[in-house]
Amino acid sequence: TPRVFSGIQPSGNLHLGNYLGALKRFADAQNKGIPSIYCMVDLHAVTVWQDPAELRHSTRELAVGFIASGLDPEKSILFNQSQVAEHSQLAWIFNCVARMGWMQRMTQFKDKAGKNAQNASLGLFAYPALMAADILAYHATHVPVGEDQKQHLELTRDIAAKFNNDFGVDFFPITEPVIEGTGTRVMSLRDGSKKMSKSDPSDMSRINLTDDADTIAKKIRKAKTDPEPLPSEVKGLEERPEARNLVNIYAALADMSVDQVMAEAGGKAFSEFKPMLADLAVEKLAPISGEMSRLMTDVSEIDRILGNGADRARAIAAPILRQTYEIMGMVGPR
Ligand code: ATP
Ligand code: MG
Repeated sequence: TPRVFSGIQPSGNLHLGNYLGALKRFADAQNKGIPSIYCMVDLHAVTVWQDPAELRHSTRELAVGFIASGLDPEKSILFNQSQVAEHSQLAWIFNCVARMGWMQRMTQFKDKAGKNAQNASLGLFAYPALMAADILAYHATHVPVGEDQKQHLELTRDIAAKFNNDFGVDFFPITEPVIEGTGTRVMSLRDGSKKMSKSDPSDMSRINLTDDADTIAKKIRKAKTDPEPLPSEVKGLEERPEARNLVNIYAALADMSVDQVMAEAGGKAFSEFKPMLADLAVEKLAPISGEMSRLMTDVSEIDRILGNGADRARAIAAPILRQTYEIMGMVGPR
């Protein structure tokens, strides 16, 4: 039976890449009637230091971001990771299944740890084992994510396969990554070779879901491009990462293919295309940010939704963890 799981870190600055690569696509699964579990992964966020007040705020803001993007907390399960202890418990098991060498190959660790990797937290290094636990604690079969998470999902498959093999069982599913569409790799507005990120120090590099219309228009106007107009064919975008990024964003926001966008906008100068993109972005994002601010006024309701989601999540994860322990020979109550 299919089950969808995905997570987003409550590390502030929820942006257009998170929306197009993740949030917008989550509602699709829910609306197809597939049971879906969505997690604010606060334990992942604290792999780098978070200010407690900001973490609290970002977790609630992310929760309302999910709801404003079309997730229904009655149909889907929405909760924050720290409240379901099974994630951490299964992560420990997976720390013992995964190999050091597997972790050392992870490009996200290298990017985030930077030059001084000895000074990175142990948690940042072990992050992919916790991510595997997030997914496999629910026996999730499908994980919609952005392109940047591909390597971590391969590791999740490796962990599941190694566990099954080590204990001679067919217990954890080999999860399918779902990475489809033009929105799965939104690049920085300042550098077409870097992905748009919450953690990019430049606010001009990303469009935040909380940006107002003027800010969105300004960021798109100032987005880095080359001086040539858009090519007339898709092929002409190949060597032009910044141009391709803006076309991809347009396509993802408009639910159009890149071919359709090029049929409409091919040959236009950026002075013409950028205002078209800004109008579209404002049209699509303003209702979401409006709904987010409205929902943010009722903190106790948000906390109630997350608490209810955690209870429902735990009801699925607890028996799976118990069976995991049993498979491994850990004695417990019968
Ligand atoms: P950080 O920089 O702190 O890692 P992030 O922007 O990468 O933050 P995450 O919480 O790590 O956000 O990722 C949440 C989801 O958003 C994941 O599914 C991830 O693949 C997706 N995502 C993140 N950045 C992009 C992007 N630029 N384009 C498309 N999807 C993205
Ligand atoms: Mg990330």
